[in-house]
Amino acid sequence: MIWMHRCLPAAAALLSCAIGCGDDPTPTAPTGSGQTASVRVVGTLTDQPVSGASANGAAVRSTRSAGDGLVTLETSSSGRYAVSVTAPQFVTRQTTLAIPASEARLDLIASSFDMAAFDQMFRGATSAGRLIKWTAAPALVVQRTGLLWANSPDDRYLADNEQWTDADIEGVIADFTFGLVTISAGVFPAFSAIRIEQAAAGTMVTVPQTGAIVVARYRALRGPSGDRIGGLGATNTDAVGVIRGAVVKIDRDSELGSPASARRLRVHELGHALGLSHVTARASFMAPSNGGLPNDADMEACRVAARRPPGSRSPDVDPANFVLNAAPPVSRAATPSVASSTTRPTRSVS
Ligand SMILES: [Zn+2]
Repeated sequence: MIWMHRCLPAAAALLSCAIGCGDDPTPTAPTGSGQTASVRVVGTLTDQPVSGASANGAAVRSTRSAGDGLVTLETSSSGRYAVSVTAPQFVTRQTTLAIPASEARLDLIASSFDMAAFDQMFRGATSAGRLIKWTAAPALVVQRTGLLWANSPDDRYLADNEQWTDADIEGVIADFTFGLVTISAGVFPAFSAIRIEQAAAGTMVTVPQTGAIVVARYRALRGPSGDRIGGLGATNTDAVGVIRGAVVKIDRDSELGSPASARRLRVHELGHALGLSHVTARASFMAPSNGGLPNDADMEACRVAARRPPGSRSPDVDPANFVLNAAPPVSRAATPSVASSTTRPTRSVS
């Protein structure tokens, strides 16, 4: 599936060259009569104008951008048009534009960007090859009482008689807030709310909550395959790729290591709760065996993801319901699906 998506640019280039063009498809020039819209084409990571950019699509005429990055599109009638926006040294973006419309900003990802690692991280195995994300800041719920892990399809667990201390909870909140700000590339500067809950020992706790990431410590935590694991992050995601809720499970014994290893584990599992999958293509905090805190390449990937809508696919295909130069559509209610991913115990990491 992913390989098929990666084939798209090559296939598109071949098709265009078959009808006689140079390195980039030559757009059909505007005629000066019709409906128009303009986009300012910039680099995703630099925000610098991109020259040589143009839009191609059925019944769409387009200028080619100069140094200001401005591309004007023209159509015979108003409507929404599927376009491919291309520029030398950038990945072609497939999106939908409303025409006419006021000027909008359209960013392109540089060809030099590590898309293979990005696809693993943000459009990976646990999100079915598409970008999934929170579209509003989640709340953070910290369950102070430890839970006893059991195989529970509805995520209900028995409350233990052990509790996180105030200092533990401060550490959890600090690590999760750091992770939220970093992974959202500053889009979410804080959780929408932070709630500390305290289940009474011996009661059953239903963990997931809509609109929140619920974190708790579990005794004898196991993953979907039945193995003992150090942590797990799982999301509840709707049909268009918007995350509606998430849980983070931390193994009680794995967490009792150094504060640094506890922090790495928490930030990694928060990554899963924000929609990320494992990365093996390069060093990353989302490596399956918990590779450390976010590095420069991770943070660059997070900045790219922050500028793409839920449902984005490789290499740079916006979902059909997304109109770049219109207000974001309200996502439809849909049957939730649950994705989960696990980390090996931190004890296996030095
Ligand atoms: Zn993991």
